[in-house]
Amino acid sequence: MTRINGQTRIVGVIGDPVQHSRSPQMHNAAIVERKLDYVYVPFHVRSGELQEAIEGFKALNVLGVNVTIPHKQTVMSILDDVSHEATLIGAANTLIFCDGRVSGDNTDAQGFLRAMTEEGIDIPVGGSAVVLGAGGAARAVVVALALSGLDLITIANRTEWKAIQFEKDLATISETEISAVDLASNQLNLAIRSADLLVNTTSVGMQETDQLLIDPDFLNPGTIVYEIVYTPPETPLLRVAREKGCQTIGGIGMLVHQGAIAFEKWIGIVPNVETMRIALKQALYQKKL
Ligand code: NAP
Repeated sequence: MTRINGQTRIVGVIGDPVQHSRSPQMHNAAIVERKLDYVYVPFHVRSGELQEAIEGFKALNVLGVNVTIPHKQTVMSILDDVSHEATLIGAANTLIFCDGRVSGDNTDAQGFLRAMTEEGIDIPVGGSAVVLGAGGAARAVVVALALSGLDLITIANRTEWKAIQFEKDLATISETEISAVDLASNQLNLAIRSADLLVNTTSVGMQETDQLLIDPDFLNPGTIVYEIVYTPPETPLLRVAREKGCQTIGGIGMLVHQGAIAFEKWIGIVPNVETMRIALKQALYQKKL
């Protein structure tokens, strides 16, 4: 890293673990390409040390950090300012340090939407979506869709009470009707049959042996299938959807765009998303593209 000098500014990512993160490759590729005097560094921050780490970043004049597992929710209580989207999502994935204060934002929702738009896929305003899962990523997806003007979002989760909690928490953020159903119910089948969009936000699909969470007989060729899992590039759900003739979108675009939005917030320059995507794919799939 000979390009680092006395004026180099630091951005990075905090998590525990953090060594699996591919964000350093993605961000540093964009930094180098634009010949910017910044460096993106992974910081291993344990749960009991989050507050100290935040104070340390302020003292060291760090510009900003991404936040990953397990800090996305817990960091919220130590922020000076929180964006509207981060408040609705209940988690921050991007921190910005300025004048001794730390503000938190969440770029996952916008990243999810931008990836769709980039693929030429219209957000089904006035239509319906089914979201599988009720974890952290699901919340960002449901907020993104609810704020985009869908009529109905049906959430199905293995642990049903978490989906019911979403229904309660997010019922009033827009006009969108939010409804929780059992993952094994016929209500889910019916919702899938009439959905404009089906999004998998569970971690199911990361393993080749993972079983489908839905009955593909209810999947219509007119339904857009959005998989936010990004390894492997084609999950069993995406394969089935492609075979059915559905328009499909994988998770890599969301990952690139949530990073690009954070980059722009810190540095004030729009990065080259293609450079970020290539670096990310190389890092994730370990091959030269
Ligand atoms: P999380 O908060 O731990 O939530 C995991 C979700 O998966 C929960 O709804 C969980 O259901 C469900 N799940 C896990 N194993 C399951 C199984 N065997 N059967 C049915 N449901 C199961 O995780 P997260 O942060 O939301 O991340 C979820 C996935 O999204 C991960 O693969 C992550 O890599 C990916 N992701 C992608 C992006 C992107 O930019 N593309 C961004 C964020 C996350 P229960 O509640 O019943 O446990």
